[in-house]
Amino acid sequence: MKLYNILSNHYALDGGAMFGNAPKALWSRWMPPDEQNRLRMATRAMLAVTTKDVILFEAGIGAYLEPKLRERFGVTEPEHMLLKSLAQRGVSEMDVTHIFLSHLHFDHAGGLFSAWQDGRKPDLLFPNARYFVGETAWERATHPVMRDRASFIPALHQKLEDSQRLSLIRKGEAFSFDGLELRFFQSDGHTPGLLCFDLRFGENRLVYASDLAAGRPWVHLPITMGYDRCPEQLMDEKCAILTSLAKDDGWLFYVHDPDVAVSRIQVDEPRQSFVAVEHQPELVM
Ligand SMILES: [Zn+2]
Repeated sequence: MKLYNILSNHYALDGGAMFGNAPKALWSRWMPPDEQNRLRMATRAMLAVTTKDVILFEAGIGAYLEPKLRERFGVTEPEHMLLKSLAQRGVSEMDVTHIFLSHLHFDHAGGLFSAWQDGRKPDLLFPNARYFVGETAWERATHPVMRDRASFIPALHQKLEDSQRLSLIRKGEAFSFDGLELRFFQSDGHTPGLLCFDLRFGENRLVYASDLAAGRPWVHLPITMGYDRCPEQLMDEKCAILTSLAKDDGWLFYVHDPDVAVSRIQVDEPRQSFVAVEHQPELVM
């Protein structure tokens, strides 16, 4: 089994929104904003290749947005970076057999759509893959509340449903691939039913925590995002997964960190928090 990070398109989000109640004087030391107060972020997927299966974890924002929205979200690469990065690993759209999505916010699932073309509706990519979404996350995406409605892509939900290749993951479900065990840690603090991917392979453990800890700054327990619906609950959930990961000396995968794909996690006893160490810009295991 081989494991890689796969870059999808970058985007830019408001620094204040990304750091919730943390003051700018603090977060701007970790991530300096541009002149519009925006932070350039990665949307990073992960690829596992086994003897039988080609498994993609998330799809990033992709390139489906129309020009006006691309501009607003700072998506500057013209091409579909997810497909390009997969090709660099020798993987085509046709090869992918499984796609797991932590939740269906546009910056995690938009890469399932083809790149924007004038006068054409986007197509659903990966015709040979099954798409896996948590039952609760699917319910939220298809019945959003006013606060998070704009983060979902209704046209994508319809395409996923019409494909007849959508599977909903029930609580407690797990998957076994050749050389890879996959379990899920469900978190509700960012959005209901977000699934963190908990991978075990050989002696190793790696958690793709998605928006539960999207980059190195969010490893600090009290640092949450303005987009989180229940920041206090998110802190408790983050504490649980990071405590377990630190105990196993495992790797934490970052979906949005602009520079680092994975770190190990250590307990920061005096601060009753965690620190990220051994940063790796690329994941190749
Ligand atoms: Zn999200």
